[in-house]
Amino acid sequence: MKTEQGARAPAAHARADSIGGPGGRAPLDVIVVGGGFGGMYAIYKFREMGMQVQGIEAGGDLGGVWYWNRYPGARVDLPSIDYSYAFSPEIEQEWNWSEQFAGQPELLRYIDFVATRLDLRKHFQFNTRVNRAEWDEARQLWTVTTEQGQRYEAPYCIMATGPLSVPKEPEIEGLKRFKGRLLHAAKWPHKPVAFAGQRVGVIGTGSTGIQIVQEVGRQAGELYVFQRTPSFTMPMRNVRLEPEYLAEVKRHYAGIREAARNSAVGGVRPQSTRAFFSVTPEQRRSLLEDAWKQGGLAMLGTFSDLMSNEEANEVVAEFVREKVGEVVKDPVTAEALKPRGYPIFARRPCIDTAYYETYNLPSVHLIDCLNDPILEVTEKGVRTQSGEVALDILILATGYDGLTGALTAFDVVGRGGRTVNEKWKEGARSYLGLMMEGFPNLFMTTGPNGPAALANIIRISENDVDWIAELIVHMRKSAAASAEPTAQAEQAWMDIVAALARRSLITKAKTWWVGTNVKDKPSGLTMFTGGFHKYREYCAAAAEDGYRGLVFQASVRQTVPA
Ligand code: NAP
Repeated sequence: MKTEQGARAPAAHARADSIGGPGGRAPLDVIVVGGGFGGMYAIYKFREMGMQVQGIEAGGDLGGVWYWNRYPGARVDLPSIDYSYAFSPEIEQEWNWSEQFAGQPELLRYIDFVATRLDLRKHFQFNTRVNRAEWDEARQLWTVTTEQGQRYEAPYCIMATGPLSVPKEPEIEGLKRFKGRLLHAAKWPHKPVAFAGQRVGVIGTGSTGIQIVQEVGRQAGELYVFQRTPSFTMPMRNVRLEPEYLAEVKRHYAGIREAARNSAVGGVRPQSTRAFFSVTPEQRRSLLEDAWKQGGLAMLGTFSDLMSNEEANEVVAEFVREKVGEVVKDPVTAEALKPRGYPIFARRPCIDTAYYETYNLPSVHLIDCLNDPILEVTEKGVRTQSGEVALDILILATGYDGLTGALTAFDVVGRGGRTVNEKWKEGARSYLGLMMEGFPNLFMTTGPNGPAALANIIRISENDVDWIAELIVHMRKSAAASAEPTAQAEQAWMDIVAALARRSLITKAKTWWVGTNVKDKPSGLTMFTGGFHKYREYCAAAAEDGYRGLVFQASVRQTVPA
């Protein structure tokens, strides 16, 4: 199945030759795969440490998910002042966010600003997809090859490939047959798509589908939303950021960042220590009403036990269902939009701008695929059990092979020829989400056993890159050429992850968080659910402890006597 893809920007800095080996260039120290927030920071950090760096990026420019996800309505759901780099006080002071929750075009402008300011693009090879990475035991090097046949070598390889970089194609019969325009949210064209007068279908109602529906619903001739599992969504209540507010933020950025680093979500969202049933029903209601009015993910911060106390969780879920009923006029549509059968926040909570109101437009139609399942895509549109819906444009908002997809999509070959695919046969496993036993000098940023989907990805990326950099400094000081976690250290980390997972309600929903959205993928909660602040403590402790969880090897290369 092929969806229409964005025209790629010219590869201004692409290099046709291979480097890091013969060819006259200085040998590389670090290869960074991926040019999203993690990869950009990694390139900057290692370059500033005096290392020779090479980034490889499949897209035509930097930005990761924000480069690819150009669909109408794409917007971050964390406050922009949090969802931004903290490592550079200059960038913090020079950049001005225009909205509390920045839209995708502004995020790309920010990424461009950072890349230009720090001169990062020259280190990246764009439009280039890695198809193999292999540890060369004898030479203590990673060899990374690309689909175009280039070959790079370096002692360290950083997989900054992100948790959401492999779009998931839905298992629906007949997609290839569709004669209209087929678009995937995560491979959106670079030119605007005209929806006026068009019959548009959207499959998927996760964070992406919701953002598309609320935007396209107001433009399309007719919009048909194919919903299988409804999501809980709360009002975003986005606002423009006034100069006085920004000036205040800039004066206090150091404190704001410190608070974010010490919070569970990596951002300055209020976190309550109050248990749900410790206050009266009236007080609970009033706190939930306040959070609803406040908007964003305020609801998640109202009580401390919403992700562990099922009864409390259900009261909050019912509160949101009531709100749906108050907004959506057609009772059948309202009922179908109310999520049931899984705890609120066990799927990624969404925040929206008049999403439910969109269904009051006469041109917007909800197709409840739980009762009227999609049978196939035809030449003309989508056929469900109750009939065929003719469409001009079909949008797939069907998600990603999340967390692990990027590293299982190609061969990452470690010691003794073992691949990541083999290692993760029964689910992702690693040490701190950062390194893997059997894969010396291979690092992940925002890896699958860290807090990736549950906290601010930029804060996690900075933590991870800084941790890797500190380890490399340690290795240089101790003349170690390779480092790898022991099997025991990796198991101990996975035990911590599993013990926390057992307490979490996240396991009670079918989502990309637990891998159930991809056919034949091992399922289970392998993310660290203890909060970003705790994750940082574990990472810091591993370093302070003298890296006892790692084994180091000295260089195998012969030193030539002077
Ligand atoms: P998603 O949450 O995995 O949602 C995919 C949707 O597609 C689900 O509603 C799913 O239904 C549906 N679907 C998949 N296959 C289907 C099929 N064969 N037939 C019918 N429906 C099908 O993916 P997403 O919406 O792209 O979001 C992924 C993540 O990206 C989010 O959780 C979030 O972390 C991130 N994101 C963030 C923002 C933001 O910051 N504002 C915006 C967009 C995305 P089922 O649930 O029934 O399988």
